[in-house]
Amino acid sequence: MKYDVIIIGSGPAGLTAAMYTSRAELKTLILAGATPGGQLMITSDVENYPGFPEGVQGPELMDKMIKQGTKFGSEMKIETVKSVDFASKPFLVATDKGTYEGKSVIIASGADARWLGLESEQALRGKGVSACATCDGFFFKGKEIVVVGGGDGAMEEALFLTKFASKVTIAHRSDTFKASKIMLKRAKDHQKIEMLKNTSVVEVLGKDKVEGVKFKNTQTGEERDFKTQGVFVAIGHKPNTEIYKGQLEINKLGYVEVKNHTITSVEGIFTAGDVNDSRYRQAVTAAGMGCMAAIDSERWLTKQE
Ligand SMILES: Cc1cc2nc3c(=O)[nH]c(=O)nc-3n(C[C@H](O)[C@H](O)[C@H](O)COP(=O)(O)OP(=O)(O)OC[C@H]3O[C@@H](n4cnc5c(N)ncnc54)[C@H](O)[C@@H]3O)c2cc1C
Repeated sequence: MKYDVIIIGSGPAGLTAAMYTSRAELKTLILAGATPGGQLMITSDVENYPGFPEGVQGPELMDKMIKQGTKFGSEMKIETVKSVDFASKPFLVATDKGTYEGKSVIIASGADARWLGLESEQALRGKGVSACATCDGFFFKGKEIVVVGGGDGAMEEALFLTKFASKVTIAHRSDTFKASKIMLKRAKDHQKIEMLKNTSVVEVLGKDKVEGVKFKNTQTGEERDFKTQGVFVAIGHKPNTEIYKGQLEINKLGYVEVKNHTITSVEGIFTAGDVNDSRYRQAVTAAGMGCMAAIDSERWLTKQE
């Protein structure tokens, strides 16, 4: 089946793009992947998406976006893309169920936070465990927080969290921090921040909410319980770009390389959202980029005619 636009991903970026392309009368297919609705399907309160002054639950917001994204004629299939051929014209996108042809493609397959891989961490996600200070920091007013990580991302998250938390403890498993000198100094100089080296988190403690963590000294092996009300894991993100490798430019961090916001290294292939954004990683920015990618693809398609 041939489409004007195939959109890979059904988070805020993909669904916003679909709303725009289908309203522009482009035959649009959304390949939703394993998580229709994207990352916000696994969170509760979203307080920073415009238009919802009382806040909104993540799944409710995404349910509305799915309705709006498919309302103007886009087709949505819950299929996962396994491979793409961007050298062929039209472009070929193969899923577990079939192969689709697209005159243009919008890549909006998002990114996943890297986690520590602990069962207790996963059990307490959204109950004190988070990977996004911008999203969840506000819920930790006056609380004590542990930030896990040693790079610039971890320092940034920790510094941001000092606006809300009474104390922030950065736990890093190694002897040296990977963060830049300036970020490290800012964190070290901050009166609310304490930094622990050679310290890994081996368990998150608590039943219905975070009550502490179990630290392990990575040099001596000694373990101790540490009281905290929040755990922010800041050990990086993994953009979902495996399937595009060799097909278009991917930067050294694994994100789709872009020029001019949405334009990839292959003409006719556009991108939006967390899959090319290591900087903002917000629902509203992903939606904004989805709109931009849709407009860019529509203009590109018009030029081809
Ligand atoms: C727990 C949590 C809480 C958050 N809270 C907030 C918040 O309060 N406010 C805020 O602004 N942001 C928040 N964020 C961040 C926000 O969710 C993301 O910035 C946003 O979802 C990115 O949108 P996206 O469309 O780029 O990608 P995603 O939402 O990641 O969606 C990616 C989509 O791609 C699909 N996909 C992936 N691989 C394939 C494939 N091979 N084939 C087909 N489809 C594929 C997935 O199924 C999914 O539908 C939160 C994130 C998390 C994890």
